[in-house]
Amino acid sequence: MSSKKLLYEGYCNRKPTVARESFGSANIYERHAKSILSKASGYIRAYDFTLNPYRGCQYGCSYCYAAAFSPNPSMRQDWGNWVISKDNAPELLAKELQRWDDRHPNRPPKIYMSSVTDPYQPFETQKRITRQLLEVMVAYQPTLTIQTRSPMVVRDIDILQQLKRLRINMSVPTGSERVRKDFEPRSPSIQARLLAIGKLKYSLPDGGDRQVRCSITMTPLLPTFPEEQDEFINKLEIADRVVIQAFHASGNRSLVATTRQEATDLKRKYAWWYDREEECYQAFKSKLSAVLSSTEIKEGAEGFTYE
Ligand code: SF4
Repeated sequence: MSSKKLLYEGYCNRKPTVARESFGSANIYERHAKSILSKASGYIRAYDFTLNPYRGCQYGCSYCYAAAFSPNPSMRQDWGNWVISKDNAPELLAKELQRWDDRHPNRPPKIYMSSVTDPYQPFETQKRITRQLLEVMVAYQPTLTIQTRSPMVVRDIDILQQLKRLRINMSVPTGSERVRKDFEPRSPSIQARLLAIGKLKYSLPDGGDRQVRCSITMTPLLPTFPEEQDEFINKLEIADRVVIQAFHASGNRSLVATTRQEATDLKRKYAWWYDREEECYQAFKSKLSAVLSSTEIKEGAEGFTYE
């Protein structure tokens, strides 16, 4: 029996589909979910629901807190190498949005997509569940925030143009490619993400009965080398909002407990920042405020609201 099979034993007896991507491979489990909208809480409590088309995430970022919500400890350990695809998500969403509409005909729900996965992780190019979810939403016009670090979001501009209250949060936690490659080596480049935000801003103009916002989320705020800070911060002007948050600033014990060893080790590599973390964080925040005069700068939960 292969070690990979043993790793997932007890969770799924079927053989996974293996999705080969440019950065390696991931085990894909195709499942039928029981429900798709989950009550929002914690950092995103301002929303009615979270919506996760997948469980697990191919990006496998070293600091990802969502790893803690893996089905079992082995899968948590193997975070980034498996994805559970909720194949019936579009049908479920149509039913659940209809039920909400029957109960609250004049108040479309506020939805945050996604809280424990990236809705535009590489497998979405093939599976297209996120795209199908957006198609369902057009008829119900929820207030929607999309949280991603993938430029693939621009693929769906044609549907996003049909949504009236939309915020796109692009995750760009550092302005240094070297740091990005250490903390999240499988993720798209910083430049690709900023270009995607530019394209979204251009293609989704605000105005009339449409309200479209774009945020850059730096949560956690990772180090940016001092010599790269000014140029990077200037580029953030493209966003309506920049959200920062220190590494596990919540002080929430369960969240701290979820910091994987990988991220803790990397923090040591960047001791020049983390030994003076509070000071570096405050200095970076002051630079953001000084340079980005027409961009909102928010911290923590306050930055994740739609409004
Ligand atoms: S993209 Fe988001 S959900 Fe995926 S591993 Fe990175 S932090 Fe976690």
